[in-house]
This record gives sequence, C-alpha cells and structure tokens, in this order.
Amino acid sequence: MYAHVYFVDGLLIDTGQRGVRSILLEQIGQLPVRQIIVTHYHEDHSGNIDLLQRHFDCPVYASPECCEIMKAPPPISFAQRMTWGNRPAYAKLTTIQEQLVTEHHTFQLIPVPGHAQDMIVLYEPEQKWLFSADLYVHHYIGYMLPEESIAQQIQSIRRVLELDFDVLFCGHNPQFKDGKILLEKKLNFLERFFEDVAALYHKGYQAREIFSQLKFKENRITYWLSGGHLSRINMVRAVIRDLS
Ligand SMILES: [Zn+2]
Repeated sequence: MYAHVYFVDGLLIDTGQRGVRSILLEQIGQLPVRQIIVTHYHEDHSGNIDLLQRHFDCPVYASPECCEIMKAPPPISFAQRMTWGNRPAYAKLTTIQEQLVTEHHTFQLIPVPGHAQDMIVLYEPEQKWLFSADLYVHHYIGYMLPEESIAQQIQSIRRVLELDFDVLFCGHNPQFKDGKILLEKKLNFLERFFEDVAALYHKGYQAREIFSQLKFKENRITYWLSGGHLSRINMVRAVIRDLS
C-alpha cells in the first residue's frame, strides 16, 4: 500500500511513513519546500516530521487536535510498525485552522473527523482540488482502527461533497477524474453498512452476532498481524458505539 506526500507551490502535504525516510529525502530533498502541513496523526502521514522539518527548516502545521496528539501519539500495532515503521512524537507543530496560503493558492482547511479525530482536508476552490488525506482511500472499506467513527465519517464526507471539486489527491489512492463520484460511492457504502448493522443492533443482537448474521469475514492476515487492531469487527463496534 502506497502512502503519498504532495508538493504544491512550496507546500508539502504530509510526510510519509518512517520506513521510507531515506528514499523520501532522496526524492524530495531538492524541492523548494517552504511549509509543511500534516493532515492527521497516523504514522503513514506523520512518520517523518522531524526529519523533513530539519531538512527544509520550515514551519510544520497541523490541526489543534493533531498538535496535541503528536506530543504523545498512541502506540501502533505490529502490522502497522512492519508496514510503515513507528512514528516518533513531535511537540513543535504549529496550530493552523481555516486556511493556508501559498504564493499562488489559498487552501481552505476543513475538519473531517471520523477516520481520525484530528483529520483535515485541504480544498483549493479555484483549481477544484481536494487534498483528501484518508477521507476516501477506497469506496469499499474492509477494516478499521478501533477508534474510528463511521457516523462522523458519514457527516464529514457529506460536508465535503457540498464542495465543487474534480481531483481527489488521496493519501493512498489518488483519483484524477470522477473524484466526487467515487467519494459519493464511499458515502453510499458507509451509509448502507451503518444501516445494516444498526437494524440488527436495534433487534437486540450484539457485535459478534451481527458480524455473522451479515456474513462478514475478516481479512485474516491483516487481522492476525495487527492483533485485531485493524479489523472488520471494529467497523461493527464503531456503529454500535455511534448508536449508544
Ligand atoms: Zn489515516
């Protein structure tokens, strides 16, 4: 699985995972980076903040929530550590809200909690660009982290779909056309998933029973390597938590 960092008009969006730090520096080290923004605290976006800040000697911005979390980020699973590498704490992020200005562009910063409580996306209305962090990733989602909220993700996607955009600069799966249609598709998937789980929950079923009633299956390798940290049962539990 790829994690993307984006460079636009002196701005670097996200810092990639720790595991690729030397390649990353080799690839982007010569770019005229004047500011960096981190979309959320997950290790595949925040793994190289210290390295890149020192290299480019520039401010690194993040949402107020992200700045707080990055002072002492939560531990990650074995699978995440193997895939991405660990993410060191970083206490010197600069809080940013509302907008970020570069020489030729003004990016609106939109909070989109759900996948991560601190996540923001960057919207450039003139160009109709959406730097969407992990809001999209794919229209079908097979597993989630234990802290994710599906209800919040649905709300966040609905809010973003009110914007006019074409290109989805996704953190993992960029879409250069039909970005909005694909994000709508994800919204439909999440709404359907939520409704299906909620219907059984209201009938009195518990998480495991709902899981088997709906004939869900875990991706065994992901489940096993992550010690259940990344799982489909987390998605069922997320709905129940949202309803409680
Ligand atoms: Zn993420």
